[in-house]
Amino acid sequence: MAYPIVAIVGRPNVGKSTIFNRIAGDRISIVEDTPGVTRDRIYTRAEWLTREFRLIDTGGIDMSDEPFMSQIVQQAEIAIDEADVIVFMVSAIEGLTDADERVAKILYRSNKPVVLAVNKVDNVEKRADIYDFYALGFGEPFPISGSHGTGLGDLLDEVMGHFPEKEENVEDQTIRFSFIGRPNVGKSSLVNAILGEERVIVSDIAGTTRDAIDTRFTTPEGDEFTMVDTAGIRKRGKVYESTEKYSVMRAMRAIDDSNVVLMVLNAEEGIRDQDKHVAGYAHEAGRAVIILVNKWDTLEKDNHTMGEFEDLIRTEFQYLSYAPIIFVSAKTKQRLDKIPALIKRVNENHQRRIQSSTLNEVIMDALALNPAPNMNGKRLRVYYATQVAVQPPTFVVFVNEPELMHFSYERFLENQIRKAFDFTGTPIHLIKRART
Ligand code: GDP
Ligand code: GDP
Repeated sequence: MAYPIVAIVGRPNVGKSTIFNRIAGDRISIVEDTPGVTRDRIYTRAEWLTREFRLIDTGGIDMSDEPFMSQIVQQAEIAIDEADVIVFMVSAIEGLTDADERVAKILYRSNKPVVLAVNKVDNVEKRADIYDFYALGFGEPFPISGSHGTGLGDLLDEVMGHFPEKEENVEDQTIRFSFIGRPNVGKSSLVNAILGEERVIVSDIAGTTRDAIDTRFTTPEGDEFTMVDTAGIRKRGKVYESTEKYSVMRAMRAIDDSNVVLMVLNAEEGIRDQDKHVAGYAHEAGRAVIILVNKWDTLEKDNHTMGEFEDLIRTEFQYLSYAPIIFVSAKTKQRLDKIPALIKRVNENHQRRIQSSTLNEVIMDALALNPAPNMNGKRLRVYYATQVAVQPPTFVVFVNEPELMHFSYERFLENQIRKAFDFTGTPIHLIKRART
């Protein structure tokens, strides 16, 4: 499941984000179109010659409080920590600078493969300028142009040549999940509390290509789980860890690698904007989601506290209305024993398949209960529905004219499906299609 990670590193202005966007292509993100959600991406899925990988623009991890050189150094360290292959970018227009040499020194000490890209080689004459960069000691420089999109094919061929061997296609039968959330909500405390349970049997598995980032455990009921990215959670003491962009990037990686995402909130501090960014990505990725309200021990509670907190979450995370909420404490271990069974349940729902005949009975009942309204004198006709995918469950609904199916009617159908089957914890996708 883990895809190779490529990180772009280099001093500001060499064209990192331009190249990032070119390689990412136009993958339009729903979340980034949501007001208040950060627009500039630093982590994306990408593909070259049918091989999928992930791309990080370390330049987007902003540490503006830090001095210039220190920022660059830390971005290079992030690249070394995170990536399988590093693209070190310099610029043919500005030429070789002190900052480039500083980055080179750091990368040189790492044992990660580094591919040197000279950007802004906009024309043939500029090609002569790339030879200066041999002095950086990373071998042949690859000339590219973010403005024209040239040279990227050769660069990516070289990058791909350094990817780890594709892992054997061993089917992972375990339930893969991760804790996500902003710093200090209690993710590592929860990891340790769950793995520390006496009844749980832990077997660390060494990642074949990177440091062990997954931990496998078995519950007394015999259910096998893989906790994704525990190394990332446990790794401590780096300055950049507290930056929002870095933690969002880590969260995106963990989401990418999991089937079930445990979104952790801090009861003591309530809901912050950063919680919403992280939750938005989990939803968008189509993973099963559970909301954990941690540090429940810190609140003075009465009969209304839980209900009020729940209302707040439902208001702030409307798109996650399917996610169950559980109030826990890593400190007192309150309700931690409920977590594995809940993960198992939402994971099952995430892969639930509904037979067409059963599904269509539900749809027909829904139509009888609440016939589609007229729109401009035309009436929506719903003929037939069928499930075309799992993880998340995806249904195609065949209709006379897709435009006639209003959002509210779509919501109604989704709710009827949810009433008939257990889809707790998982998003459902409905695709409207004209019957041909
Ligand atoms: P970053 O700070 O490294 O992420 O750099 P940006 O992607 O923001 O680019 C810095 C500047 O260089 C912008 O004004 C870009 O338009 C420009 N730029 C990027 N790629 C090229 C290129 O291939 N040729 C030229 N001439 N300019 C470029
Ligand atoms: P992370 O950054 O999300 O991994 O958060 P940590 O697990 O490092 O926790 C941050 C701080 O919150 C630490 O001081 C923990 O001891 C504390 N903490 C974590 N969980 C709880 C909890 O359930 N109750 C209380 N009172 N404190 C907690």
